[in-house]
Amino acid sequence: MRASQTLLATLRETPADAEVISHQLMLRAGMIRKLASGLYNWLPLGNRVLKKVERIIREEMDNAGALEVLMPVTQPIELWEETGRAVQYGPELLRFSDRHGRPFVLGPTHEEVITDLARHELQSYKQLPVNFYQVQTKFRDEIRPRFGVMRSREFIMKDAYSFHIDHASLEQTYQVMFDTYCRIFTRLGLNFRPVQADTGSIGGTGSHEFHVLADSGEDDIAFSDASDYAANVEMAEALAPNTPRANATQALETVATPTQTLCEEVAELLGVALTQIMKSVAVVAPVPVDADTLKANPTAQPGQRFFLLLLRADHELNEIKAAKLDGLKDMRLATGEEIQAALGCVPGFIGPVGVNVTVIADRSVATMSDFICGANRAGEHLSGVNFGRDLPEPIVADIRNVVAGDASPCGHGSLNIKRGIEVGHIFQLGQKYSAALGASVLGEGGKPVVMTMGCYGIGVTRVVASAIEQNYDDKGIIWPDAIAPYQIALVPMNWQKSQRIQTEATALYEQLKTAGFDVLMDDRNERPGVKFSDMELIGIPHRLVMGEKGLDAGTIEYKGRRDNESRDIPLADLMAFLQ
Ligand code: ATP
Ligand code: MG
Ligand code: MG
Ligand code: MG
Repeated sequence: MRASQTLLATLRETPADAEVISHQLMLRAGMIRKLASGLYNWLPLGNRVLKKVERIIREEMDNAGALEVLMPVTQPIELWEETGRAVQYGPELLRFSDRHGRPFVLGPTHEEVITDLARHELQSYKQLPVNFYQVQTKFRDEIRPRFGVMRSREFIMKDAYSFHIDHASLEQTYQVMFDTYCRIFTRLGLNFRPVQADTGSIGGTGSHEFHVLADSGEDDIAFSDASDYAANVEMAEALAPNTPRANATQALETVATPTQTLCEEVAELLGVALTQIMKSVAVVAPVPVDADTLKANPTAQPGQRFFLLLLRADHELNEIKAAKLDGLKDMRLATGEEIQAALGCVPGFIGPVGVNVTVIADRSVATMSDFICGANRAGEHLSGVNFGRDLPEPIVADIRNVVAGDASPCGHGSLNIKRGIEVGHIFQLGQKYSAALGASVLGEGGKPVVMTMGCYGIGVTRVVASAIEQNYDDKGIIWPDAIAPYQIALVPMNWQKSQRIQTEATALYEQLKTAGFDVLMDDRNERPGVKFSDMELIGIPHRLVMGEKGLDAGTIEYKGRRDNESRDIPLADLMAFLQ
């Protein structure tokens, strides 16, 4: 591509409303532009990266035997009613009606549609297993779209759905998908970790998430520094996947001690039975009495014992909103009466006078509940909440204090907690959707068998942002070769004035293209400094600078995007050098 013929929409200034580096650099490099909250245009440069990511994903999915399909974004709500998710999915599900008043949703995911397809198209066990995938737009009406395409409302997902005659077959395909995902993220050049995960609102039995390690990640993941052990800390059983039960219990006890004690302490403080706390409360955590706490609770005193109680999300008080901690700004403190209703304790004790207990109930922190309660084994009382994100930092800090440095549950090394960006998620769905929609085939014995399902997602657009989170410097993006919009930037010096440069550079440009490279030749009427900084900002991994002096000497200047110095390469050796 000639730079003069594409849209290089680079910006010098860092856009004020972009918080994370990938969002800033995607705007500055001219990859994306915002249309409205959580909606982005992909400019030509960004689109090239997106297509490269998609190509790698498609190649690996095809290699794994998956069949590509394409399903509509618009889905009749009846299917969602059949599975119960019309209600369960909540406000992230965008609904609308057509001109005849027929209700539809914009698909946030496609389990319903694919299962509907499968119940019509699959008749016999002989057609199984089969794995369908698509690369398609999703819409989720995220409560807080942010970080650019990392958490947008409209985004592209690769989603796959497998159908099986039994669980053993599902487990085989699940393993194939697990390995395929490892290959995909490796080829994409990402530093990632698969972790044990919760199944969230999708439902099912087993699940892994794939996380790209980056400080801007919204999830906390726990892993051993000396083994393969890794888990999403949001998951109740996070501390003990794939380990003998005895180890798991031991790990849980290590973590349990403080929170278990807290539950007892709070029960005593409130004068209610421990069982009542366990029944109604999902999380008990000590809260430091900081400036925010004081602001939200005028009667609180520094040094006072202060607890965070999170009511179970399925408790009747789950509509309570509380405003107290950072990240929970839209919530409010529960009133004494509300707490009384939940716990049956004296309201005056907890009310505005002498506040020392806070109740927060909101689905966006229910995630936490599973962690802490899993840890203190109150988690057994919890089930099926629709998990959210965005743990308030004080709570995360609390988890860190409890688990960081503890022996890893697998017994090797110690436990680390790092931030991760969820780029992929695989689930063993079981029969949740096939049973609800009546998707069965004739089994070997001639009787109908409800199919067993798996599903496998990758956030394609999010992958692009997370690759940047891991690969940048103060000059801009540093693309992994496999997904760079162009592999080589060819910068001819004095292009406007030198016929010789024009001829030689164009010849080299054609030669590089013929050899299979994606080349961007910067033939713009700009100063060399502008061209160099643009090429660095947009992150092209290899740069060639052609000047007349070099041509005289038969050389060209080469600089890798991560190199400090450039070097001269004899033109005769260039092709071999670049291979
Ligand atoms: P998150 O926890 O970040 O909200 P999720 O668990 O709701 O994601 P899944 O239902 O597992 O997402 O969807 C599969 C993949 O789609 C995720 O692993 C993620 O990479 C991507 N994804 C989900 N929501 C978004 C979004 N709002 N913007 C961009 N990508 C997303
Ligand atoms: Mg989500
Ligand atoms: Mg998730
Ligand atoms: Mg997920």
